[in-house]
Amino acid sequence: MKKIIIAIDGPAGAGKSTIARKVAARLGYAYIDTGAMYRAVTLVFLRSGKPFTEAFLTDLAKQIRISFAYQDGVNRVYVGNEEVTEAIRSLEVSRNVSAVSAVGGVREAMVAQQRSIGEKGGVVMDGRDIGTVVFPHAQLKIFLTASVEERAHRRYLEMKEKGEAVDLDDLKKRIAERDHLDETREIAPLRCASDAVYLDSTSLSIDEVTKQIVDRVMAGV
Ligand code: C5P
Repeated sequence: MKKIIIAIDGPAGAGKSTIARKVAARLGYAYIDTGAMYRAVTLVFLRSGKPFTEAFLTDLAKQIRISFAYQDGVNRVYVGNEEVTEAIRSLEVSRNVSAVSAVGGVREAMVAQQRSIGEKGGVVMDGRDIGTVVFPHAQLKIFLTASVEERAHRRYLEMKEKGEAVDLDDLKKRIAERDHLDETREIAPLRCASDAVYLDSTSLSIDEVTKQIVDRVMAGV
């Protein structure tokens, strides 16, 4: 069976990465978390202590070497030789990533890398602009969403399980803010491609959504 490109886009906390990882595992495809790439650029920028300028961020995005390795069931993210899997999930990075990813030069550099990783197919890529900009010809596009209450609630349970202190209302506010920034930015805003399958997972389980996507691939899309 020909290995295709599967694009999964949607707002923060819709379950894209969990589902994309499961779909990839079921099909023997690679999984690429493009949000992690923008987070890695943001982390390196914050550590630099430099002011926020488009020129600096564009240079940084062009130079940074981001790679992924799937080990022991964990999708590990590296910048150069340093593992940043946990560091890119910090509150500080989450707060700044939408501003960094709105910079045109940053997007150009990331999109070029994403295309070179995925162009041969056999990849599940998740993000905000995969079906609209990165791979407008992807054979299967999914727009995965859920109500903001449900997305905040899922994140809340995830964080509580990790022993992190969280406030549900605060989480909801931050998710809504990030959605707004991602949906209203000038370049490559988050939107559902006209030929994407719209999946609202508010009342669906992870396994149900995964099955719907895998079934489509098996049926030849
Ligand atoms: O997927 P995740 O929530 O980790 O993405 C973090 C942020 O990276 C998003 O809120 C968005 O600002 C940015 N992003 C993007 N384009 C993508 C993936 C993520 O702009 N393809």
